Amino acid sequence: MKIAILSGKGGTGKTFISVNLAAAADKACYIDCDVEEPNGHLFFKPENLVEEEVSVIIPRIDKELCRGCRRCVDFCRFNALAFIKDSPLVFKDICHSCGGCILLCPEKAISEEKKIIGRIQTGSSENVTVNTGILNTGEASGVPVIEKLINKDKKEDFTVIDCPPGSSCVVMESIKDADYCILVAEPTVFGAHNLGAISIIDGEYAVDAYACEGCGLCEALCPAQAVSLEPHVAGELRLYNNDRVFSTAQLKMGSGTSGKLVTEVKKQLQEEVENGELAIIDGSPGIGCPVIASLSGVDMVLVVAEPSLSGISDMERIINTAEKFQTKTAVCVNKYDTNLEETAKIEAICRERQIPYAGKIPFDPEAVKAVNNGHSIVEVECAAGEAVRKVFDKTMELLNE
Ligand code: SF4
Ligand code: SF4
Repeated sequence: MKIAILSGKGGTGKTFISVNLAAAADKACYIDCDVEEPNGHLFFKPENLVEEEVSVIIPRIDKELCRGCRRCVDFCRFNALAFIKDSPLVFKDICHSCGGCILLCPEKAISEEKKIIGRIQTGSSENVTVNTGILNTGEASGVPVIEKLINKDKKEDFTVIDCPPGSSCVVMESIKDADYCILVAEPTVFGAHNLGAISIIDGEYAVDAYACEGCGLCEALCPAQAVSLEPHVAGELRLYNNDRVFSTAQLKMGSGTSGKLVTEVKKQLQEEVENGELAIIDGSPGIGCPVIASLSGVDMVLVVAEPSLSGISDMERIINTAEKFQTKTAVCVNKYDTNLEETAKIEAICRERQIPYAGKIPFDPEAVKAVNNGHSIVEVECAAGEAVRKVFDKTMELLNE
């Protein structure tokens, strides 16, 4: 029996449910497919760890053989090849490893190169086998890591799959062999909305729309020209413009182009806001390509940390990611009074790493009521709203330093 645990967004308690279901069984396998921010191992502390790298194939250009026909550049749907100084250049981080350019080059000037994108760890913790997938920062897709992870351990009768949040292609890869799905929802207006992002898949496909990345290789190779690509909507951009500009998008279930959609949301926002106006970008959770798309070009990153073991681990991963962009970074703590010890640890980490601290927000039942009614907490008189105002002022001060 394989049970997949899902949620419409991060922070709903999906890992908490997954870990405890596995721990409650006589014998179980726990698979952490939340490869951008795997946390389950923090609770299990597995022993006898065995680690395996996960790699994909990317192209390498032989400039001596290249005749500059540009067929590879024109073919690549992901803009991972650009023609610079008479030969193509590969942008390794956005290559989707479709292999199309390698097959199409008439001069055989493109060969395969291995690129490590992550790793999987296997260990044991009492009655539970713990398998964890870890994606390297900024990689285009966690699907190859999840694929290897899911196929790794098929021995245990009871398997709990801790899925990534949302409804993109990594979620589809995680649940494809599951017997049962449990959706973890929060009792808020946002929780009910996010729950709607997950729905049951039914039907038969000639092309598996959830697995297809739109590389176009089948169309280019089919000798009978029986395959043609048709436009496929990956998501929906939305813009609200009244006294404030609100740019957003909803990724279509199973779509793998979340990074591109984030870039479009930011582009739409930039077109609408005047220079000098404040733009706040609500980033995706994790450290994968949507997060990289959220971070690129910003003036400052504000990390919202949770005072828990897993919250600190997530915070450190996103700080390390932001450091790669050399972007000004600050930290604030949400619901700090739910765990004062862990809050003190976060403050100590900030001091040690010389990361400015923008403040802390208490757990506040009035704030919960406001959120449940779809209001922002600064609209109501409450301690959490007051704390958010202080975080805002401190963030502005740091931004303008
Ligand atoms: S398809 Fe081959 S020969 Fe043509 S530009 Fe690309 S690498 Fe060069
Ligand atoms: S065609 Fe495919 S393999 Fe080649 S660069 Fe583009 S995504 Fe990568």
